[in-house]
Amino acid sequence: MILRGATLLDFSALSRREGLEVRIADGRIRSIAPQSAPAGVAQVGAGSEVLDCSGLYLIPGLVNTHSHTAMTLLRGAAEDCTVEDWFNRHVWRYERALRPEDVYWGTLLGAAEMLLAGVTCVADHYFHMDRAWEAYRESGMRADLAWASFGTGEGWERQWAEALEFSRSFTGRDPRLVISLGPHSLYICPESFLATVAEAAGELDLKLHIHVSEEPRQLERSLKEKGLTPVQVLERAGVLRPGTVLAHACAATDADLSLIRERGAGIAHCPKTYLKFGGLPDILPRALEAGVSVGLGTDGPASGNSLGIFEAARDAALLAKAARRDARAGRIGEVLPLCQRGGELLGLPGCGRLAEGPPAACTR
Ligand SMILES: [Zn+2]
Repeated sequence: MILRGATLLDFSALSRREGLEVRIADGRIRSIAPQSAPAGVAQVGAGSEVLDCSGLYLIPGLVNTHSHTAMTLLRGAAEDCTVEDWFNRHVWRYERALRPEDVYWGTLLGAAEMLLAGVTCVADHYFHMDRAWEAYRESGMRADLAWASFGTGEGWERQWAEALEFSRSFTGRDPRLVISLGPHSLYICPESFLATVAEAAGELDLKLHIHVSEEPRQLERSLKEKGLTPVQVLERAGVLRPGTVLAHACAATDADLSLIRERGAGIAHCPKTYLKFGGLPDILPRALEAGVSVGLGTDGPASGNSLGIFEAARDAALLAKAARRDARAGRIGEVLPLCQRGGELLGLPGCGRLAEGPPAACTR
């Protein structure tokens, strides 16, 4: 495939290169060079598809580093309520009735929504991930799938066994789809269970994806009950490993951020969720100042309502300004590159980069 006459945008350098010709073969970007022939003139090998991209911008596929995609089916089901009511009065009641086929269709719908918004890769943390895997395979997206595990409550052992079986049998089945382990959070997973999951991650060579320190009350409770921050509890349980995706971490202390950076973990920042629940965390500027790897995420459509990463970037910039009460926070030059950095956070080489060599993902 040849993309001819495009203007390539570089979010990191805040620059653009015009009149380029991008050649793609065997799923990889083979060359990016000045256009060799006027738009529409075919001087290409037999069988090549030429797209006239004059007047169009070319950007890397955007990366969504934290989603519960099948919650497209629950969008709008819990609005204008506290986070406790969101979980207890609404979402968990619906999720108890969730069937594997619901996850398949909800994920397929979410994948279509993401592709239409330029998102070609997602880290999805949900249930019945064997069905989500099928939906992503059909969609053409890249995905990192983690089967959410609870470690407490009715049937948790069976659920953990399902998650482990999924991880073992689906790893390596499709080069576009990778598998992680997904303990839900410290408030649903006892520390002993987290240690078991971390050990399994080491044995199976899988990454971890977990919610942590979502709001200040979780930090206060952890300090009171354990004398440690939630991030320090994850460290003690062995969860802070290279490539671990920490969803939110809004109440991470400065010492936590140093620990996250040292361990090679990173933060999935989902500003719309924080705003929806009335939070105003200044975690993004603090994490960037601490040198932590950060990607943008949408969270599930029942909390974030959208699966768009440009929308998440805009919210991230505005949230940083409001939280710091400083219009200079959340600068364009800081936030726009995050649209591309999710691939680094997820350990997917080249994902989110437009350069010679990385895998190509096309969506218009
Ligand atoms: Zn989440």
